[in-house]
Amino acid sequence: MLNSFAQEMPASYLFSEVGKRVATFKDTHTGGPRLIRMGIGDVTLPLPKACITAIHKAADELLDPSTFRGYPPDGGYDFLRKAIAINEYVKLGASISPDEIFVSDGAKSDSANIQELFDNNCIVGVTDPVYPVYVDSNAWSGRLGHYTDGKWERLVTFPCTHENGFVAAPPAERVDLIYLCFPNNPTGATATREQLKAWVAYARANGSIIIFDAAYRAYISDDNVPRTIYEINGARECAIEICSFSKSAGFTGVRCSWTVVPSELVLRGSSLRSLWARRQATKFNGTAYIIQRAAEAVYSDEGQRQCAANVAYYMRNAAKIRQALIDAGVEATGGVNAPYVWMRCPNGMDSWSFFDRLLDQAHVVGTPGSGFGACGAGYFRLTAFGSHEDTDEAIERMAIYLKS
Ligand SMILES: *Cc1c(COP(=O)(O)O)cnc(C)c1O
Repeated sequence: MLNSFAQEMPASYLFSEVGKRVATFKDTHTGGPRLIRMGIGDVTLPLPKACITAIHKAADELLDPSTFRGYPPDGGYDFLRKAIAINEYVKLGASISPDEIFVSDGAKSDSANIQELFDNNCIVGVTDPVYPVYVDSNAWSGRLGHYTDGKWERLVTFPCTHENGFVAAPPAERVDLIYLCFPNNPTGATATREQLKAWVAYARANGSIIIFDAAYRAYISDDNVPRTIYEINGARECAIEICSFSKSAGFTGVRCSWTVVPSELVLRGSSLRSLWARRQATKFNGTAYIIQRAAEAVYSDEGQRQCAANVAYYMRNAAKIRQALIDAGVEATGGVNAPYVWMRCPNGMDSWSFFDRLLDQAHVVGTPGSGFGACGAGYFRLTAFGSHEDTDEAIERMAIYLKS
């Protein structure tokens, strides 16, 4: 009766092990040094004022019988689908229409659910290191075969290493489903237009589908880095894009996201856009009206200014972290168009040894790169989501430790 693939899922070791080691440190250093956390992948600044104003107004509408709303429409309210289409796509020269946009309550759930559209014999390819959801959701469905010797037998990985600047080129072999996330969590790497063109060309030549996670697009400042895969010609014929208000507008606790399924995507005569609409109508009843109004307010002039200010706040941290590491002679990437800095552990240390040393010597908590895949071994992720004060202090402590 039990789903044997579910049973084979390895325990999600990374953050529980981080938690355990931090707890042990605290137990053995009572009243001791203050820890600074640079491991969290969550925003810390409050929501933009424009969004809160919209939430209050929408909440009041629900009190009045003439403006009350029950179930939202499948795929989201038109006002939000239109606002996303115009502001996130049309303004960048990417033609996406509102009926190709499906509003949801999280990029995590959509990126886990999208695999339901595909055959169980599909070959799945992911970058290594990787956001674990893409792998786990396919494993859960049995698409990756069995888990033996610490590996899913049918999973293809694209190594992202120092040698390729942490952006893999398409492989020689054929894969059906390709998960790409740029700007990347955990490495902070971004793909250039040329690099994305190569992936789109590969997908079109092989009849593959790209699932493009653009959750961090608001952090891009470089003009040569596409904000959406639909800036690349031909992407409408091979790519689904998943995006979220979580990191762009601080919505991690209020929940709103969207998925784009262009009408050109047709497999064996079936429209993926129609099938995703059908899937969502079956299993999902929509994102709250008040939250969709909050998301719409992100695109007001005030909302845009406030979101940009929050992103700039985090990016000041990212730039400082990156520079401090480079100044200390450490290999560090990311942190330019992404809120993550990816560093090589000094002196050839493995990820967990460095975690322990940094905790012990600098009282700073980060995330071991090995937790994101085999190619993350020997690397470490630091996040820019802390306060300026904490980040500055963490940088100082790390610099002292790294020079010692
Ligand atoms: C944070 C994050 C998301 C956003 O997920 P939500 O469910 O929308 O909060 C998506 N993808 C990646 C890679 C992330 O790091």
